[in-house]
Amino acid sequence: MAAIDIRAVDKSFQKLKVLHSVDLSIDKGEFIVLVGPSGCGKSTLLRMIAGLEEVTGGEIVIGGKRVNDLPPKERNLAMVFQSYALYPHMTVAGNMSYSLRLRKIAKEKIATAVAGAADILGLAPLVERRPRQLSGGQRQRVAMGRAIVREPQAFLWDEPLSNLDARLREQMRAEIKKLHRRLGATSIYVTHDQIEAMTLADRIVAMEAGTIQQIGSPEDLYERPANRFVAGFIGSPA
Ligand code: ADP
Ligand code: MG
Repeated sequence: MAAIDIRAVDKSFQKLKVLHSVDLSIDKGEFIVLVGPSGCGKSTLLRMIAGLEEVTGGEIVIGGKRVNDLPPKERNLAMVFQSYALYPHMTVAGNMSYSLRLRKIAKEKIATAVAGAADILGLAPLVERRPRQLSGGQRQRVAMGRAIVREPQAFLWDEPLSNLDARLREQMRAEIKKLHRRLGATSIYVTHDQIEAMTLADRIVAMEAGTIQQIGSPEDLYERPANRFVAGFIGSPA
């Protein structure tokens, strides 16, 4: 059974149709990267999976369950954005534990989860700091920590690194890769950065104007691009 199954999904905003019968079946533990030019519908697709945007047509099935009408809270997914939106008045630990505290999880359990995530992300010495006392990369890590502690069924990443400078982006890319190896969690990662796509993806989904052009391994897309659009994006000479 697929971890996430997207079946003939359409999306319109009033008269503007932005996604056209998208089909995508994602295995458990798979790292899927969605690529494509700005405005092609990547964020909209991710937001529909998260439940932040209504589905116009088709079905989204997560863990075997149709979720079209399920509110975001009940989907057990964690979304990581480029704007980390940390709570400025809370410490690192406070930010990471917030969603668990809302859910009235036992204190000891929360402490263990936060310590575990802080350890994975190299934040252990910083847990008492406030966001303003952190660098951009550290803040991004806290945002990831917040997602990890929830033990989601899947991580949804929407261009999480696009605000960072090149050096930090490279470092965080390695961090995300490590995290994925360690947690083995299903991920859908949106980027328009070709290097991120090539280094992180088990499979890349190339989108253009609300349709999927090709789905394949980084090697497939590089060596056997389905069309000029994919070739142009992935950077092979075809
Ligand atoms: P991407 O993330 O690939 O850059 P988006 O999913 O954000 O693209 O947007 C896809 C299309 O949908 C764009 O044409 C965008 O203008 C449009 N769109 C996105 N959100 C809305 C909205 N809330 N209302 C109307 N149009 C929207
Ligand atoms: Mg977007």
